[in-house]
Amino acid sequence: MSIALNDFQPKPSLVRPETHLAGPSMPFVDAHNHLGPFGGDWDQRPPQELFDHLRAHGCVHYVDLDGGWGEDILDDRLRRYKQLEPESYRVFGGVNWALWADEGNAFPQKAAARLRDQAARGAEGLKIWKPFGLTVRDQHGALVAVDDERLDPIWATAGELGLPTLVHVADPVAFFSPIDGTNERYEELQTHPDWAFPSPPFPTFGSILEGFANLVRRHRGTTFIGAHVACYAENLAWVSSLLDECPNLMIDFSARIAELGRVPYSAREFLLRNHQRVLFGTDAGPDAEAWALYARFLETRDEYFNYSTESVPPQGRWMIYGLHLPQDVLKAIYHDNAARLFGLEAAETDRRHPQTNSNHK
Ligand SMILES: [Zn+2]
Repeated sequence: MSIALNDFQPKPSLVRPETHLAGPSMPFVDAHNHLGPFGGDWDQRPPQELFDHLRAHGCVHYVDLDGGWGEDILDDRLRRYKQLEPESYRVFGGVNWALWADEGNAFPQKAAARLRDQAARGAEGLKIWKPFGLTVRDQHGALVAVDDERLDPIWATAGELGLPTLVHVADPVAFFSPIDGTNERYEELQTHPDWAFPSPPFPTFGSILEGFANLVRRHRGTTFIGAHVACYAENLAWVSSLLDECPNLMIDFSARIAELGRVPYSAREFLLRNHQRVLFGTDAGPDAEAWALYARFLETRDEYFNYSTESVPPQGRWMIYGLHLPQDVLKAIYHDNAARLFGLEAAETDRRHPQTNSNHK
């Protein structure tokens, strides 16, 4: 008898501990997230609801990457959220690549000037979305490489302004591979055919990632956050050596517990070794279930569990294993690294010890 792949939903017969945590065991910063459309409909609700929800779940600071190209959406988020609770929230700006066609050779300088303006209005970081390296084109219609030197003014300006630059380039390696029975994300690509980037016509995964590495190497004065485990969660040795080489690189592991959790020995070693360079974030909206699942992954010894809430895990048919990280490593990843990077510590100390603070004045 044969059945369709969709109908194959095996239930493990294993008897093993299943720890269901309510969420992270300590206050945390969510350093890679959205409010909509990638983060649910939170941007349609009263902003105070968001902050009450964050507080109820222990999220002390929320990094919203949805500032768009640094124009209307950025201003809207600054006005509605940042003004309400400046200590609990920040939003990143962006680069509008579409303007390159009209601005020609002046584009990089103008984009840098716009970034300066975004920072002046309140943007506290720069988000680079994945079309960069895949589809972004210059005024001649030529594909732009991630390490294109013409763009140096943008990265240098981010460094000068102290704006952490969160970069998402490429996508899972399997999205660049043929969609056939050997593709480990076959089902995901069936559901989202537009996530496939076969090369050609797209650049290869390797060339995009090499471009990213060159970008980080060339701009030591700019702090880069390599989103999704520096966009190469499938190769922790590669990420680890780039971290060694470039002190200006941090990473987050948002949307990648499926990758880390299927290689628990290497992932645990990787996080222990690099724990001061790793930021916590889910990329799933301010979602309590996602926070709880990430906590289960980071904190427990649970074995062979689903990394999602769907019956067929959406990023590939495998299960993950908890990393039971020690407390000091958890604290660095959940909170301290982000607090250091974003300068939250001073603000938190002031809030906890208002008396001490006023005495200094
Ligand atoms: Zn994201």
